[in-house]
Amino acid sequence: MTKPTEVRCLDCDRKLKTSVSRARHIGEGCWRKRQAEARARSALVPLPGFTRHGDLAGLDGPSLLDQLTEDGPHAS
Ligand SMILES: [Zn+2]
Repeated sequence: MTKPTEVRCLDCDRKLKTSVSRARHIGEGCWRKRQAEARARSALVPLPGFTRHGDLAGLDGPSLLDQLTEDGPHAS
């Protein structure tokens, strides 16, 4: 006999009915709220793609300048 294990929402402590909610231990409503909060939080982070691009540009910058300065005297 397998009695249904009672899983409660981590956020509101309500009994979870669906297997999906039980799997994540968070109810549907609270899960959506968490996702909305997570999205809002990630939106505050200033574009990770840009910072990564900036780092690459910073690394590429000196080497490009070195090549230019190296070529400079040779050319002229
Ligand atoms: Zn909940």
